[in-house]
Amino acid sequence: MLIILRHVISVYRIPSRNKKGLLMINGFTFSQYNPMYWYCTRRKSRNCQAKARTDAQGKLRFLQENHTHEKPQYHITPTGHCVKIN
Ligand SMILES: [Zn+2]
Repeated sequence: MLIILRHVISVYRIPSRNKKGLLMINGFTFSQYNPMYWYCTRRKSRNCQAKARTDAQGKLRFLQENHTHEKPQYHITPTGHCVKIN
């Protein structure tokens, strides 16, 4: 059972076969727009305005979590692969 507290920010970089990276923040996925800016992966499909900014080392510097949708159901396997459930 995974309990995510609202004030706890968990950042997980998801390995991707694409050039662009994926970042999971508090259960939501963000795709890389440029080396330091990330937009919610549902930006287009759900008109979601949530975004994040990291520094050059990949540390989270800014997070705007105004998602217009529920968390996608992802499962991270022990090998670090990301499987979408819904
Ligand atoms: Zn979103």
